[in-house]
Amino acid sequence: MIRSVQFRSLLLSSVLVTAVLLCIRQTNIYQSLNLAVYDQFEQFLAPRPIDSRLLLVTITEEDIQNQGEWPFSDQTYADLLRKLQQYRPKAIGLDIHRDIAHPNIEYPKGRENLLKELQADNVIVIEKISGAGDPGVAPPPTVPEERIGFNDLLADKDNVARRGLLYAYSEGQAFYSFALRLSLLYLRDDPVKFQVDSNALSIGDAKFPRLRPQATTYNLTEEEASGWQILIKYRFPQVANQISVTKILTGEFYPELIRDKVVLIGTSAQSAKDVYPTPYSSRRENISFAIDDEKHFLMPGVTIHANIVSQILSAVLDNEGQISFWSKWQEWLWIYGWIIIGAILVLRQNRFWNIVLRIILALTGLWGISISLLAWGIWVPFVLPAVGLFLSSIIFLGYRIRYTWLYDRLTNLPNRRLFGQILRNKIIKARKSSDLMAVLFLDISRLTILNDGLGRKAGDHVIVQVAQKLKTLLSNRDALARVGASEFGIWLHSAETTEKTVQFTHDIRKTLYQMPVNWEGHEIPVSVNIGIATRDSDQEGTAEDWLRYADIALFQARQSGRPEIFASNMRQQVEGRWQWEMDLNRAIEAEEFQLFYQPIISLKTSQIYGFEALVRWQSAERFIPPGEFIPLAEETGLIIPLGEWIFREACRQLRSWQQQFPGLFPVMLSVNLSGVQFSQADLCDQFKIILEEFDLSGRYIKLEITESIMIEEVEEAIAILKRLKSLGLQISIDDFGTGYSSLSYLHRFPLDSLKVDRSFVSPLVEGDEKSPYTQIVRTIVALGQSLNLKVIAEGIETQSQLNILRNLGCDYGQGYFFGKPQSKDAATALLSKYFFEGNV
Ligand code: C2E
Ligand code: CA
Ligand code: CA
Repeated sequence: MIRSVQFRSLLLSSVLVTAVLLCIRQTNIYQSLNLAVYDQFEQFLAPRPIDSRLLLVTITEEDIQNQGEWPFSDQTYADLLRKLQQYRPKAIGLDIHRDIAHPNIEYPKGRENLLKELQADNVIVIEKISGAGDPGVAPPPTVPEERIGFNDLLADKDNVARRGLLYAYSEGQAFYSFALRLSLLYLRDDPVKFQVDSNALSIGDAKFPRLRPQATTYNLTEEEASGWQILIKYRFPQVANQISVTKILTGEFYPELIRDKVVLIGTSAQSAKDVYPTPYSSRRENISFAIDDEKHFLMPGVTIHANIVSQILSAVLDNEGQISFWSKWQEWLWIYGWIIIGAILVLRQNRFWNIVLRIILALTGLWGISISLLAWGIWVPFVLPAVGLFLSSIIFLGYRIRYTWLYDRLTNLPNRRLFGQILRNKIIKARKSSDLMAVLFLDISRLTILNDGLGRKAGDHVIVQVAQKLKTLLSNRDALARVGASEFGIWLHSAETTEKTVQFTHDIRKTLYQMPVNWEGHEIPVSVNIGIATRDSDQEGTAEDWLRYADIALFQARQSGRPEIFASNMRQQVEGRWQWEMDLNRAIEAEEFQLFYQPIISLKTSQIYGFEALVRWQSAERFIPPGEFIPLAEETGLIIPLGEWIFREACRQLRSWQQQFPGLFPVMLSVNLSGVQFSQADLCDQFKIILEEFDLSGRYIKLEITESIMIEEVEEAIAILKRLKSLGLQISIDDFGTGYSSLSYLHRFPLDSLKVDRSFVSPLVEGDEKSPYTQIVRTIVALGQSLNLKVIAEGIETQSQLNILRNLGCDYGQGYFFGKPQSKDAATALLSKYFFEGNV
């Protein structure tokens, strides 16, 4: 169900992002950014080698100085052409306007000479096509049509020359570009077919698809894309060999430089103002295009023409492809893909830096793929997918945050917060219809034990399984939520009567119990407690009230072991307990607990044998005796963290005594262990870790356990005791004689001592050897001796009790007669007295 919710929001957010992208695409910032990125890519892909089929003859500042005039006279060009022709170039392109005469006073025949040179069939001259508001520049007269090319260059909105117009057709007239004419001239020896159709130019097998107003990448208008244009693939940093006019005129060159080449003549002088920005102009490195402009990285017009010629020749002769584009829908698919990726990136991630890292990685990937594609000759959009990816991950992250705020991640069910909202709506609706309302709270019992025993994963697995089974038991109109670690909340829409509701809860329990959850081969039986709140519970209650009632009923159900319906008298009862539970929790955190130490004396030597650690709770208000809070802590399970604290504290104290009084004697420390702790699966591991923490041997710690654990699950108890003993720990049976332990089993338990309960010690009176209590104690001592166990008597308050116990052969004694449980400082003082004076 939730998968589809995620899917829907994914779809929704991606549509939203797409809409935003469509708007972004219209902005100028986007357009220039897009072009700037293309330039960066181009620069990244540079350099490319020079084209040796070409030669650039350029007019430099120096040439102008040498000639002493600008523009040059016709005679100068006539000389230049004649000189060049001597070395048999395949084609010469004169990228200099000669529509009118440029007289030279010394050589009045210059014009004539030039026009004669222009008659040669391998010379191409230029014209400038007239456009709106531009009269254009005519070609030199007398040159036939097929040797005239236009030299108009195109610029994008940012003035950069990225496109080249090869061919145009207007009002029945075809226009060839200067570069195209030169190329065709170069190729005329092995003639290739030149063809124009509405989609492309083709020369031989080489195709030059027309630039079209593209969907996204190269956002040209219809007008901008007119004619047959291509994207210029610049050769960078230099397109061809280059030589100055003066050098040609003075003959300072190797003939091979010219032979069979396409020679382009033009100006590279900055002052001639025939220079343009290219994709490389933003490159701020100390590279020039071998022109006089080192600052702006502008490219002379003639160099741009040379680049186009080289591009055409490379396509025809070297099979080089053109830069192409994907179709509109392909581009959007590509963009959409990255939008989806953006959402997926944050799908299962929670850590902020992880998400940031993933986004950066994805953007890098996008960058890499885009550049590679461009290297392959496909210009794909980069800015839009990058923005899309970023936006969609942000949006989806927001959605995720909302989701975790309202849903439980493990089960994908609504959490307590959302359940409250759901209830609020349901209650309003149900009131109107006077349907019976029922809210159930369901709790998986012993989940903590499961978590501790088989691990969190097992616990989670059970929770998910229970959630799924519950779903199948409920109708579509009911609502299910996970309201606590092990708790589910259910809104029963279809509750008809209270009886039916109760019956339903019994059914749930039965069904769940009959379908144990399988975990790594374990069959885990699932038992649940259910608390019920119905309209009878409260006519007017708010959603919060209902949640509380169900919770209280659940608390009661945990005690009774069957589903319970909330009744108003439950509240006080339960709330009292809750207070306790909260206090206990807080007290552990506030460290209100202390261990007191009661001395244990050897009855044989009258020396201190050790201490029993007894926990004390000094809350802010009052002193609370352990008899009061230990049972409660056991009931609520809080004994587990409390017991861990007690054991650690006892170890810390023992370690400190050992260090303070080295070699005094082995001080034994007895620690009480609750039966609940005993069933804690990782008890041994926990103790082991704590012992290691203090670098302590278990030998001097004695665990006092009660007989109760010896009654149930004998084999298991023996196994646990053996593991505890393997840590070196000693084991004593506390309150011996009060329980019902079977004497016949006793020998099977790995024990070290028995502790005679105070109730047998208190009544001992000297002189009354026949009293049943004397008999009992005697029996216990004898039993201890026969099983090789030490016997400790507790609750000794008088000298006569001590005498009797001594006579009976009891090993150790403990009681107010020797000393009450005392603070660690008092106990330490007692030990130091022993240490320094050798006696009490
Ligand atoms: P327990 O293990 O039988 O502890 C002995 C109790 O008898 C202690 O009461 C001690 O103060 C008291 N006592 C010792 N000598 C005499 C005496 O001569 N006369 C009288 N009248 N009483 C004496 P306390 O400390 O109130 O502990 C009560 C019970 O609470 C303990 O019985 C034990 O079951 C539980 N408890 C105490 N500390 C812990 C603990 O750290 N962990 C666990 N699991 N249980 C503890
Ligand atoms: Ca004890
Ligand atoms: Ca006891």
